[in-house]
Amino acid sequence: MYGFMGKILVVDLNKKRIEILKKNEAYYQKFMGGALLCAKLFEELTKGPKPDNAFAPENPIIFAAGPMAAGGVCGATRVNVLSLAPESTGVYLSQAGGEFGPGIKRAGFDALAITGKSKEPVILIIDNDHVRFDAAGYLWGKDRNFSYEQLTKDLGKDYSIASIGPAGENMVRHANIMFEPDHYAGRGGLGAVLGAKQVKAIAIKGDQVPVFKDPETVKAINKEGGRRLSSAIKKAPGSFLGVLRHYGTFGLLDINQKAGNLPTRNFNYGAPYHSESHSESHPEFGKPDLKPGQKPDKKAYAGRNNPCKDCFLSCKKRSKAKPEYTGLAEYESAAILGANIGLEDDLETCLEACELCNRLGLDTISTGNIIAWLMDCFENSIVTEKDLGFSITFGDGQKAIELIKDMAYQKSKLGILLADGIDQAADRLGYETKPYLRFVKGVGMPAHIPHKKPGVGFGYFHGPNPGDHMKLEHDWIASDPDSLAAFNLDVSSAPDALDNGKIEVARTTQLYYAAMDALSLCLFIFSPGNVYTFDEIAEIVNAATGFNFSFSDLMEIGERSVQLQRKLYLEQGGTDEAFRSFLSTEIPEGPSKGAHITKADFENARRHYYSIMGWDDNGHPVKSTLERLGI
Ligand code: SF4
Repeated sequence: MYGFMGKILVVDLNKKRIEILKKNEAYYQKFMGGALLCAKLFEELTKGPKPDNAFAPENPIIFAAGPMAAGGVCGATRVNVLSLAPESTGVYLSQAGGEFGPGIKRAGFDALAITGKSKEPVILIIDNDHVRFDAAGYLWGKDRNFSYEQLTKDLGKDYSIASIGPAGENMVRHANIMFEPDHYAGRGGLGAVLGAKQVKAIAIKGDQVPVFKDPETVKAINKEGGRRLSSAIKKAPGSFLGVLRHYGTFGLLDINQKAGNLPTRNFNYGAPYHSESHSESHPEFGKPDLKPGQKPDKKAYAGRNNPCKDCFLSCKKRSKAKPEYTGLAEYESAAILGANIGLEDDLETCLEACELCNRLGLDTISTGNIIAWLMDCFENSIVTEKDLGFSITFGDGQKAIELIKDMAYQKSKLGILLADGIDQAADRLGYETKPYLRFVKGVGMPAHIPHKKPGVGFGYFHGPNPGDHMKLEHDWIASDPDSLAAFNLDVSSAPDALDNGKIEVARTTQLYYAAMDALSLCLFIFSPGNVYTFDEIAEIVNAATGFNFSFSDLMEIGERSVQLQRKLYLEQGGTDEAFRSFLSTEIPEGPSKGAHITKADFENARRHYYSIMGWDDNGHPVKSTLERLGI
């Protein structure tokens, strides 16, 4: 078999035993790797006793790599993680960069599944097919940077390490998983699943390498991709890819602020509040509109590159301003723990809050949304000092820092309440707080304003991954003739519209994104038109795997993945969120002034989406849809 190792490692924590499942080529032709393999394995592993909640020992958590991981291909190192979600309803998929995906391959597997629950805190140490269960007591309670450094000291640098922080140990419902010190599977609360299983860390290494059918072609396409990317960035350093190269996603703060897409003060605004400063440039974000030959701004916070291995784009940066920090905050984190909690003019505290979340193991996006919700409720007198025990207004960075610690360590009754899921917290704090929630099925909204990008916003409201901005292409593509032609789409839609055209483009790009997730590829490299043509993507996959896939075969893999995840999501209790009234409130000022989504457009879009997905009126895939895809 080419590209795949043909084996899945299943670790049973109840019995401290492992099982190795063998899979044949036909299986991989159908279920590939990454997200789709995760979903398929979840289905197989829950055939017996079904988990009735995310913390049940029967709930498996699955980590899967793609066929090109560990093969020296730029953008092919991502790891997908799927489990029943503590933060939401149904299954949830999260992803991260780093070396854990390649680590799984080097150990001789395509995926790792963990089931059961350990009686005591444990570190799983996987060296090829030898698995040890080491006591983790000495690391329990420690922050993730400490744990990572200690484990690296104890085990040596050959291991790729996934770990949780105190938030995961305490089963905070928006706890995340960290890979090495700088990569996060952030969404859905999957860190709390590891916490419930008492798994503090997983260290994996091996000495196996995947064999490619045609390594020379893989190498040549990869090399040409690197050449194209460098030349495109040289010619247009101020382009999207140029910003990623020079400043990381942190540099996108400038673009989004100017476009009115920067969530500000609980998504009530799309740019800094009551000021003209949305048009100002902040040297810390990085010089916008770089011209060819110009050097990046010296005042920019983006420091040295810290890329996933073999990446020639390198969107990951260390922080020049705070070299002791884990890594420079990503756009989503800096936006939601920045302008969205009123820290428009306090970047230092924003970065401190991001770093604290990273060390304690909290998802920055949901954490920031919880804080913004409390601030908005307090400013509107929906909650009072008597309810909370303190006052909290937008811009109160120190209170935000205290709340982050309180949620992770569950120091107070409020910390415990906020850590146990936003919907329960809103129930307890009062019905009137609910209109102020910027959550979808319990998951905090990412830093793209649904009013401004209604296609992306529509995606937030539809499982299997509520509140995820990385499951379909952003709205711009629906009015870009070249992209529409490449996808063979005979429709279009204005950037601010939510109409049938937008939904058809959303569906097509959703399948595309799902195909890339099934290959565990980075979407900065493999987004439509960024570096490769669709035919080139099929060619590199075939050269690696020996398959004979066309691009439309890859789109079918994407559809199988979406439909299987949808099926599991519904079976595990997931539902789609109803229309929320804040969507129809117009953004009152700034570059996105007037943007809103009407209830009628939203409901029409939902009906159209269900119909073109092959689902019934309740959003359930119909039998013929599942049969066509063999699921
Ligand atoms: S573009 Fe960024 S996230 Fe993607 S592989 Fe490169 S460094 Fe990793």
